[in-house]
Parts: sequence; C-alpha cells; structure tokens
Amino acid sequence: MTTTARWDMHVHSRYSWDGHAESTIDALSAAAARHGLAGIAITDHVDCPCSQRDQREVGRADLKTRARDLAQVRQSPVTVLSAVELGEPHLKPAEANDLRHRHGLQFVIGSVHSVVYQRDRVPVEHLGALLDPVVLMDYYLDEVLQMLDVRADIDVVGHLGYPLRSAGRLPNLNAGLIAKMREIVSRTTRDDIAIEINARDPRLFYDMLWTAVPEIENVTVTIGSDAHRLDGIENHSVSGVRQELHRRGFRPHPTQQGRLVATSG
Ligand SMILES: [Zn+2]
Ligand SMILES: [Zn+2]
Repeated sequence: MTTTARWDMHVHSRYSWDGHAESTIDALSAAAARHGLAGIAITDHVDCPCSQRDQREVGRADLKTRARDLAQVRQSPVTVLSAVELGEPHLKPAEANDLRHRHGLQFVIGSVHSVVYQRDRVPVEHLGALLDPVVLMDYYLDEVLQMLDVRADIDVVGHLGYPLRSAGRLPNLNAGLIAKMREIVSRTTRDDIAIEINARDPRLFYDMLWTAVPEIENVTVTIGSDAHRLDGIENHSVSGVRQELHRRGFRPHPTQQGRLVATSG
C-alpha cells in the first residue's frame, strides 16, 4: 500500500434503513473508483431493540441479499469490504460476535447511538436539546467504555464525536472528559481496535481528542464519510480529515487495510 492509498471505512448502502435508494453497491463502488479510492467498507446498520420501552427506529440490513450484490463487484478496481455498523454491540455481545462469522464480515464498526438517561435508553439526538454538551459527552463516553468492557468483536469505535451533531457546540474539556478519552484510547490500543475519525462530526472533535491524549503513538484510526448518499463519498469534509491526519503524522497501516497509524514522522 502506498502512502496515497485512500479508503472510506464508513459508507451506507441502500440496505441501511436510512440509506438512499441510489446507493446500490454497484453505484457506490463506481463512485469510489471515480474518486480514486483504494477501497470502501459498506457498513450498513445492524441495530437491536435494546429495551421494551426503546422507541428508536431499529434497522437491520438484509445481509444475505446484500452479499449477492457484493459478490458482483468483486472485479471492481476498488476493494469493497463486506462490513456493518453495529449499534450498541455490548447489549447483545453474543449476537454481535456471531454476526461476523455467519456473514463473513471483513470489518465491523461498534457504534453508540443511545445512552441510558433517567433509567431509559434514549437516542443521543433527543438529548442534544436537553443536556449541556459536557454532560451529554460524559454520558456518551461512559456508554462507549461499557461497549469496550464487553470486548465485543469490533474493529473500530465509530464516531466518538456523535453527540456533537446534536449538541451544536463543543464541550469544554474538563478533567472527567479527558480521563475518559484517555481511557478509550488506551483500551482500544490494547485491544487492537481503531478509533474512527468520522467526517460528519465537527473537525474540532479530534483536536479535542489530541488535546486529551497528546502521546497518541501507536493509535490506529480509520476515516469514515458516514455517507448515506452517493455524493457523500470523498466530499470536502473527508478530504479535510485526510489532510489533517497526514499533517499529524498518520500513515497507512503496513498490514491492516483501511487503517492509519500514528507515526512520529
Ligand atoms: Zn452511526
Ligand atoms: Zn453510519
């Protein structure tokens, strides 16, 4: 892999409940080829209803049917990985672990989309208007740590800056948030799990991460557009993230496709 190899490790196809109809596997792979990407991971949603009172819209991609479409793009110049974005894998760890083997998944994102608030599981986007960004981020990072506790079979922690999408502004870093971010970095590094830099979250989020964790040596990250439409692939925001990571010394991982690793260079 050359230093210019570009991957998008978070792309939704029409098999996601919130994916656009135009985003067929074929069209996504063609779009990635047009942008000169080396590969993309098709990370459709697999969520589970987490409690009886859970009112979230729950989406589970039809991975069996999707596999037929994936088989047909094998000749594409772009490597197209069969992948999923698992919502709250820590709530059903056995199922999460089984999924990879049953469907031959090559890449699994573990994502937190909801947290327990006042004894109920609530979508994070509903809490943006209710909670101070610091408090919301604190809930969120706690839930991420629970996901890591369970050691579900995931390759990357998705969108750590997700609460910022609904919070509308950045929380000031306090000692508690810094400690939690450092803990997340240390556990993911220990367990060989990457941290996703999601291009839909404000760029400042990762500045926050680097501030909290200055000695980021050996950390691996992935870049994800989190595109739900064809034009979301390799957009302005994604290329900005790429440039920034390159400037910070991140280079393609020598063996793990789609990952970037922090170097001192
Ligand atoms: Zn997500
Ligand atoms: Zn996503």
